[in-house]
Amino acid sequence: MTTPLLQVTGVSKAFGGVVANNDISLEVPEGRIIGLIGPNGSGKTTLFNSIVGFHPIDSGSISFCGDDISKKQVPEIARLGLLRTFQQTRVYGLMTCMDNMRISVPHVNEGLREMLARHRDEVAERAEELLEFVGLYSKRHLMAGDLSFGQQKLLEFAMALMNEPRLLLLDEPTAGINPTLINGLIDRLQRANETLGVTLLVIEHNMRVIMNLAEHIYCLAHGEMLADGTPSDLQNDQRVIDAYLGAH
Ligand code: ADP
Ligand code: MG
Repeated sequence: MTTPLLQVTGVSKAFGGVVANNDISLEVPEGRIIGLIGPNGSGKTTLFNSIVGFHPIDSGSISFCGDDISKKQVPEIARLGLLRTFQQTRVYGLMTCMDNMRISVPHVNEGLREMLARHRDEVAERAEELLEFVGLYSKRHLMAGDLSFGQQKLLEFAMALMNEPRLLLLDEPTAGINPTLINGLIDRLQRANETLGVTLLVIEHNMRVIMNLAEHIYCLAHGEMLADGTPSDLQNDQRVIDAYLGAH
């Protein structure tokens, strides 16, 4: 058996009296697209925050490439190649798409200004390639704030790819996106996985999207791991159906 790229083992996290994650375990093998679903408030975003080092966990362990990362901070984990995107986008609206891309690269032991000067051509070239990849090349000189919400999500995705992640955690990538852009986004996620070799763990509320995208899906409910399996396993799992029906 090979070590999974990401292994979450018995992770718990509470906020005051609210147990957001209780004894959660999951694994993400390298090269795959894995899904994470569950009703609102079931603890999905909290789990992402724990994985990327945004807050400490109360118990359990998290390993990435076989190394324990549960005590590491966000920048250190990002440098190892583990990044996330947000449910709400985090692009700089008053900067152009190209400038958003330029400032997304990691600047290890180097001031931002020095890094940009030194690697200007390389960074710009990669930024243009990735904007092309997500279909935003023609908009590269527009202010990010002038893009539609869906286009901002594509930009945020391209910004994450600037860091050459091994594992990217996507928090509801299609939420709030115009249905016509959703298929394009799914196609880009699949191509990033296939051609750039990025492993994906995707939180998704749209069942059609996650059933098509992920080969294995974990389902949270009330902070607990309710079920996991193939898309068809979960579609036919009464506990999963009840969790979703109960949530609406
Ligand atoms: P999901 O992403 O599945 O909708 P969240 O992980 O955002 O769920 O939230 C799980 C639970 O944890 C909710 O009850 C939420 O209110 C609570 N929670 C999340 N983050 C915080 C926080 N920073 N402080 C207090 N409670 C939080
Ligand atoms: Mg969430």
